[in-house]
Amino acid sequence: MATMGTTTAQPPRARLRGVVFDMDGTLTVPVIDFAAMYRAVLGEDEYVRIKAENPSGIDILHHIENWSPEKQRKAYDIIADFERQGSDRLQIMPGAAELCGFLDSKNIRRGLITRNVKAAVDLFHDRFSLSFSPALSREFRPYKPDPSPLLHICSAWEVKPSEVMMVGDSLKDDVACGKRAGAVACLLDENGRYDSPEYANVEFKPDFKVTSLREVHTLLEAHFDLSP
Ligand SMILES: [Mg+2]
Repeated sequence: MATMGTTTAQPPRARLRGVVFDMDGTLTVPVIDFAAMYRAVLGEDEYVRIKAENPSGIDILHHIENWSPEKQRKAYDIIADFERQGSDRLQIMPGAAELCGFLDSKNIRRGLITRNVKAAVDLFHDRFSLSFSPALSREFRPYKPDPSPLLHICSAWEVKPSEVMMVGDSLKDDVACGKRAGAVACLLDENGRYDSPEYANVEFKPDFKVTSLREVHTLLEAHFDLSP
């Protein structure tokens, strides 16, 4: 058609009925030094070895899963220490409250999935008077990057995974969980660390990449049908 000119027909926009957020580093400002935590749990040599084998990131919970109960208890104590220090300095991510307000105004559901413990989620909910439901923590097994928690939320909401977006700052946990579940995955990469070539060949790639939660708002309006 002459009137089309060089533009191409736009496919219909995908419906969006829910957004599921990661907590640490996504809804809250990153305060946990994960590299230091992994070093403390694994020891320097083991840390270096495992890091080389897992370029997209270390799954610390997975690594300690098969340790002896005693060694595992020590590891969980170390992790809990790092998480506690994180809680003490907890800050909400810029743009998070505004984004939640926007989602609420569109009646789009908000959920949360974290590999942190339930106590940390409770603290987050109390501290910032924002609530996410369902909010699944480490106690829900299997945890991210398994798609189970996200599929659980979709079925609780009675929506298709393809109508849900997973937003998180971890390629190996949040993006992998989102893509495995069949959802839309949005990676929050504040300082471009995932632009590094070591991440070029990862199995699960995000559908969208943003540098702030404010950008999520813009991309939702640009790419999705947000009508109820
Ligand atoms: Mg995170």
